[in-house]
Amino acid sequence: MSDCLFCKIIDGDIPADIVYQDDKILVFKDIDPKAEVHLLMIPKQHIESLAQLNESHHDLIAYMMLKLPDLAQQYGLSEGFRTIINTGKGGGQEVFHLHIHLLGGKNLPGF
Ligand code: 5GP
Ligand code: ZN
Repeated sequence: MSDCLFCKIIDGDIPADIVYQDDKILVFKDIDPKAEVHLLMIPKQHIESLAQLNESHHDLIAYMMLKLPDLAQQYGLSEGFRTIINTGKGGGQEVFHLHIHLLGGKNLPGF
């Protein structure tokens, strides 16, 4: 998607502090961190939001979920972490490319 901010990050057209990537996903630091650790995990495939998922995304979503604890561990979040997926305008989503927030460490705000 040419006008999608996160697709531009995937394509390298917009810089980001990338911490992990493979053929399926990209993980980078949120530009406006809400806690000591605040990462965003996105699929390399453009999917607008959780509401657009269908059976064809089954393996991809499972893959993303299974990677989250690994990343949390890597970032020292041994005591726990928070994941958030905002979906649609009503869910507070601002960037319409599916992403999972991974938050933890100091200054984790109340929910
Ligand atoms: P949403 O509200 O859609 O769930 O979250 C979008 C997130 O993307 C926000 O936490 C915001 O700080 C982050 N963000 C927006 N623009 C950029 C950017 O250009 N680079 C990075 N790294 N994060 C961004
Ligand atoms: Zn996109």
